[in-house]
Amino acid sequence: MLSRRDALRAITLTSLAAVTTRWLPSSARAQTPDGSQLVPPPPTGPSVNAPFSLPPLPFAFDALEPHIDARTMEIHHDKHHAAYVNNLNKAVENHPDLARRTLQDLISNLDEIPEAIRTAIRNNGGGHFNHTLFWNSLQPQNNGQPEGDFDKAIRADLGGIKDFMNALSQAAMAAFGSGWAWLSLNADGKLIVESLPNQDSPLMHGRKPIFGIDVWEHAYYLHYQNRRADYIAAIWNIVDWPAVSLRYSDARSA
Ligand code: MN
Repeated sequence: MLSRRDALRAITLTSLAAVTTRWLPSSARAQTPDGSQLVPPPPTGPSVNAPFSLPPLPFAFDALEPHIDARTMEIHHDKHHAAYVNNLNKAVENHPDLARRTLQDLISNLDEIPEAIRTAIRNNGGGHFNHTLFWNSLQPQNNGQPEGDFDKAIRADLGGIKDFMNALSQAAMAAFGSGWAWLSLNADGKLIVESLPNQDSPLMHGRKPIFGIDVWEHAYYLHYQNRRADYIAAIWNIVDWPAVSLRYSDARSA
């Protein structure tokens, strides 16, 4: 069993370095009320030669209950996210030049990827990136609201927190089939709400992802069945606002 410190270090050195900057979980994650271990051991990883690896969840499978149930979290992380990582590694297996690049770089420049593996990188690179962002946007307890410049930008660009939550919820409801609803920073430095299909990242469209809601059925079906609206409403109880605020600051200064 990894200690929390070891696990955080692993997140910092592997997934964060490979994905993007400063997605450390907020201090709200550090303790559960009963002091129990928050960080599960990492699942069986890919081979040592694989350039991309599945980061451990920054909390226990059951940490987000009752909003997201433990079984959904376990399958979502250990099976779905793991499959994106494994298939991404397969896609770059015979492309050492690509395997040396960061995930963010790869999915931000899909037009530079050889056509034969472009769709595989788009789907699986996007899947790995989006899920890593998702896990690092959630936390077990209500921990505040948008902070600092992020709060100001939500007011200026989206009319305030209430309008933003309504807009993102509507985008999540309106996404037809499998996809995500995103809060993105556009090239003009403005926040926008959008929905994108499949595992597309805003990075593939010249924008920076700040927060996203996964509305693939695998994200909610076991517990919520067809009640996507209930799942979306539940997500708002477990947003890690300090982490999302920090991601916005990083996106603005990058
Ligand atoms: Mn998913």
